[in-house]
Amino acid sequence: MPQAGLNGRRGFQPRGKALGGSSAINAMVYARGHPRDYDNWAAMGNTGWSYDDVLPYFKKSEANAIHRESSFHGVDGPLSVTNLRSPSPLNEVFLKACQSRGIPYNPDPNGADHDGCYRVQVTQKDGERHSAAAAFIHPNLDRTNLDVRTDAHINRVLFDQRRAAGVEYRRDDRLGSVRARREVVVSAGAFGTPQILMASGLGPGAHLKRFGIAPVLDVPGVGQNLQDHISALLIYRARIPDHTIGISTTGVARLLKAAWEWRRHRTGLMTSCVAESGVYYRTSPDVEVSDMEMELIVGIADDHGRKQHLGHGYSAHLLLARPKSTGEVRLASPDTRVPPLIDPRYFSHPYDMETLVKGTQIALDIMNSAEFDPYRKDMLIRYDRDDPQQIEETLRDHADTEYHPCGTCRMGPDGDPMAVVDPELRVRGIDGLRIADASVIPRVTSNNIQAPVVMIGEKCADLIRN
Ligand SMILES: Cc1cc2nc3c(=O)[nH]c(=O)nc-3n(C[C@H](O)[C@H](O)[C@H](O)COP(=O)(O)OP(=O)(O)OC[C@H]3O[C@@H](n4cnc5c(N)ncnc54)[C@H](O)[C@@H]3O)c2cc1C
Repeated sequence: MPQAGLNGRRGFQPRGKALGGSSAINAMVYARGHPRDYDNWAAMGNTGWSYDDVLPYFKKSEANAIHRESSFHGVDGPLSVTNLRSPSPLNEVFLKACQSRGIPYNPDPNGADHDGCYRVQVTQKDGERHSAAAAFIHPNLDRTNLDVRTDAHINRVLFDQRRAAGVEYRRDDRLGSVRARREVVVSAGAFGTPQILMASGLGPGAHLKRFGIAPVLDVPGVGQNLQDHISALLIYRARIPDHTIGISTTGVARLLKAAWEWRRHRTGLMTSCVAESGVYYRTSPDVEVSDMEMELIVGIADDHGRKQHLGHGYSAHLLLARPKSTGEVRLASPDTRVPPLIDPRYFSHPYDMETLVKGTQIALDIMNSAEFDPYRKDMLIRYDRDDPQQIEETLRDHADTEYHPCGTCRMGPDGDPMAVVDPELRVRGIDGLRIADASVIPRVTSNNIQAPVVMIGEKCADLIRN
């Protein structure tokens, strides 16, 4: 939907239509967020979701190749987490720039301490993306209790009265169905899950009525509470082509060489996740927990790379860690093949713009520090450090999603009228139906959300088993 807070612009919200979902197309950054994020979930009444409660599930899913002695990491789980094999030397410049502004280096922001500047860890194995499918599905394909059907688009959940009895799907234009002996678990993500629920008759009653969908239960919270990280983009043209990805003769030659190197050694530029290092920082000393995160991108990433520019450069993506604006997902049609209407309502809460402006000023201080002098040329999109009004206008023209939508079937305690699932991830008022994906997240965590979503999957498995 056009966003009033973005001067009427429409965002772009891709989803990975593949086994493993969006982990098949994401930037592979492994980030859990701040422990307080989960303590806050628990304080909202979600018993069993404090950081101490969820840490075992992060560890269970993880095979961390670097932090092998840490009590915060797992070493023998299915999901491979490691350092980048061939990071750009520009990361060292970035890390020094952060330290020159008094921000300490943190060797493991997913460990004992969260704040500081860091080198990213990624979900990769042998120099290759390790998606949720590669970690959890492919190794289990020969199990007798697993049947994977690809190219199957879910139309709706089937019900016997108020009990989920299975799902109906469309494949090659033919309808099929699967009956569930015990439970149906929906994991179609922050857009797909509320869409499927609404198309099945679970959602805000008046909205379903408009589409002639027979209601199973009026669940007002379905599709509400959409949260997403809004991010600002600082793009610099580089004086020299060294250490960055770019469109030039040098850049193309380097890519061809990199393809060869990757095939031979599984190292080099091809293993880059592009967002290679980052920093958690605070917009004011009074802020208790870092409220901003910034990542260095080793190339020009205008409009998430959809606008191409000749030459070399580097960028910084900075995101508001805990945005307060919330939006919604609604149906455009009862047919789940028609994309839903997505309205994140960016900047609808005044805190978000106010904080992102301050965060942009601090980010400019880091990116304009002397460490970057040998590399920095002009900014592609100009921000005036000392003019908050100009920064705000530029953000409204250029800020965009960081691709972390969540919260649209949020978890909550008894008596919470907008909670869709209970803390055991069961859809309230319905038997035999759970949700395990980003839609159950009650408050977005402080950075990327794939690691939290994997943790939710691990915990859901345990809840079912118990
Ligand atoms: C471009 C991009 C970059 C990102 N970078 C990072 C990153 O670096 N690190 C990080 O932690 N996170 C990142 N994310 C976010 C992260 O990938 C997602 O938050 C995470 O994958 C969400 O998991 P999910 O299971 O909730 O949903 P998804 O991964 O989106 O999976 C849902 C799946 O359900 C399918 N589906 C939906 N409706 C239906 C239907 N009716 N029938 C059948 N299937 C359906 C979808 O096609 C999708 O495959 C990124 C996301 C994007 C898009």
